[in-house]
Amino acid sequence: MPPLAPPPRSDSQLAVAWRAMDGSNAKAKTIAEVPIARHPEFYFSDGSVVIIVERTAFRVHQSVLARHSDVFNDMWDVPQPNRSETYDGCPMVVLSDSVMDFVDVMRVIYDAFHFDKLKSDTNLSTLITFVAGILRISTKYSMQQLRNKCIAIIQAKFPSTLKGCDEVLSRGIQYVPSEIVRIIPLARETTVPKVLPWAFYLCAHISVDEILTNSVLSWRDKALCLAGKERLWEAQKKYTHPFLLDFKQCPQCTGACQTRVPRMLKIENIENLRMSPHPLEEYTDWKSLMLCPKCQSVSEMGHRDGRERVWDALPSFFHLGTWEDICKDQNC
Ligand SMILES: [Zn+2]
Repeated sequence: MPPLAPPPRSDSQLAVAWRAMDGSNAKAKTIAEVPIARHPEFYFSDGSVVIIVERTAFRVHQSVLARHSDVFNDMWDVPQPNRSETYDGCPMVVLSDSVMDFVDVMRVIYDAFHFDKLKSDTNLSTLITFVAGILRISTKYSMQQLRNKCIAIIQAKFPSTLKGCDEVLSRGIQYVPSEIVRIIPLARETTVPKVLPWAFYLCAHISVDEILTNSVLSWRDKALCLAGKERLWEAQKKYTHPFLLDFKQCPQCTGACQTRVPRMLKIENIENLRMSPHPLEEYTDWKSLMLCPKCQSVSEMGHRDGRERVWDALPSFFHLGTWEDICKDQNC
């Protein structure tokens, strides 16, 4: 976690009039008698602009910011009505962001190897904390390369293709409910809807009580989780796993499978599946079912087709439109 801003320094009692800009929509705001602290790491003596975030001053380089961000590139090109607003001899801009988020972005900009600190086995909670602030700031200030980098990191854990889904399932990534749910409001806030279907799918494995008492999800998203849970269960029964849950032998059956295989699962197992549906889980234990070759072949084909069907429809289970809609929304 990035450190908090230090206590105000000697210039903390400076009375300053400042201009507040929030990136796309500049709005003038004059505030007097505001104590300001210099950030210990990002207050360079040769910096050319001062950015104030939550009363912390960052003296950084205009050309460096402009290189990463279209918004910062334009910020000082726009004629300002009052150019006298300076801090420590530099043009000053006040941003309405989280200082922790801004520090994270400064680290990326001034440390070329910052992303290397994320190891391949970094847990999901650390990963989300690492990229969240960078994703928020890079989205807001049109820092496209940084934003793309953050999205690639998240999408490696939250796939948007069935192939990607198979990969994360085979890697056995541990998804802890409290970590999964954090990605949902972040993806909504930063317009990264491609990660939402898989995130919601995973939330279908969270108990109803845990969803209802969750403090991160909005009530709308809680409702979508619960409704999606029902839809996934229906899809598992009907499309992906009917051979386990509602078996019907094929017309070419050579072994009277219907009578031999009356019910594959015990009622308590069925109840567990209903509470935690997992239609995209690939079934491989075909031999244990002891079906005739014809029924096994038909069941395997149906399972394969069913998984593709469920994946294609996955966004609609959570009112997210289609995969095409999602791609359009994310501009990808
Ligand atoms: Zn059969």
